[in-house]
Amino acid sequence: MSKLPDLSSLFARHKKAVLWFSGGKDSLVCLDLCREFRDQLDVCWVNTGAAFPHMAEFIRKATEGFNFVEIESDQAAWIEQQGLPSDMIPVANSIWRDVSASEPKILLQPWTACCAKLRFQPGLDYLARSGATFLIHGQRRSDGGGFTVDSKPDAKVEICKLLWEWSEHDVMDYIGQHGIELPEQYAEGLVDSLDCWNCPTRAGDSAAKMAARFAYTARRYPDLYEELKLLMGKVFLATEAAFKEVKADTTHVWRGAAEKFERDRAVPKCAPERGGSTSDLERNIQAYGAMEADLFKHHTGQWVVIHDRKLVDTFGTLDDAAAEALRRFGRGPYLIRQVTIAPLFTTADVNALQIGAKT
Ligand code: SF4
Repeated sequence: MSKLPDLSSLFARHKKAVLWFSGGKDSLVCLDLCREFRDQLDVCWVNTGAAFPHMAEFIRKATEGFNFVEIESDQAAWIEQQGLPSDMIPVANSIWRDVSASEPKILLQPWTACCAKLRFQPGLDYLARSGATFLIHGQRRSDGGGFTVDSKPDAKVEICKLLWEWSEHDVMDYIGQHGIELPEQYAEGLVDSLDCWNCPTRAGDSAAKMAARFAYTARRYPDLYEELKLLMGKVFLATEAAFKEVKADTTHVWRGAAEKFERDRAVPKCAPERGGSTSDLERNIQAYGAMEADLFKHHTGQWVVIHDRKLVDTFGTLDDAAAEALRRFGRGPYLIRQVTIAPLFTTADVNALQIGAKT
């Protein structure tokens, strides 16, 4: 495979290597590619204590025959101390709050800090302990977002992002050609190693992937899902309450600006209006609003094209949606928009949580 670094010469330069392993498709391909060098390799998985039960089993089985090292980190203790991971952190709910103020009901921390402490730091610590001079991981350029481990944690360690130039298609092709077994959730279209079952945040994933993870958890682990919903509810309550407190008295000032921003955002850059008017676009936006509840049910995370107030189709990516819109309607006007995540809670859920938070 031309996009691969020369593993033979890399392993020739280093006596010992560590592969960071998560059990997902990318790390499974890395594992397979490194098979012939297994005598020089430690395969390291960080178990936060909150892995999905089937993933812990899958990972131990997939790494049989390798020098497998399972590192433990203590998610429960860290969250107890620092708070629940969240994409939004009101200062009053963080460890940086005014310490003279009363204790926050719900403590939150940035998910990046949580992942760094529980998943990445233990991997780095093991790397240092192992004496390895070569680190391999399967992060790809097209992953986008999240952490990128490409700087040297130690001058003596060479880092190889083995699949950096691969697309998801390359990875799935390799898996098909080599008959590599994938974790069960892949058969349901959830292309992810899942990480912590009780993570109430996106942790670098797209909204669509997060929604798919929740839906999978609800089906496969209904008891765990009930716990996850409570954690999600706490994060939701804390962030919503902070937002209301800060913004409530100035709502009249920012609402108009926010709505304008939302309208502008909905105009596709690749298809500027022509031959239509702003009111055509506004009618398409209104049509989207009328369909939104139904779209959330069936197409969360997908991209929709709306033309002449009708849903044209749904697409997996913005590029696909824009290409089809341009092909059919030229320069518009039409609306291309992502169906972002649906509210996860009913009023009844939130009321129940509010009662719980007060007691
Ligand atoms: S996946 Fe979520 S809970 Fe697990 S370490 Fe990352 S932020 Fe924390």
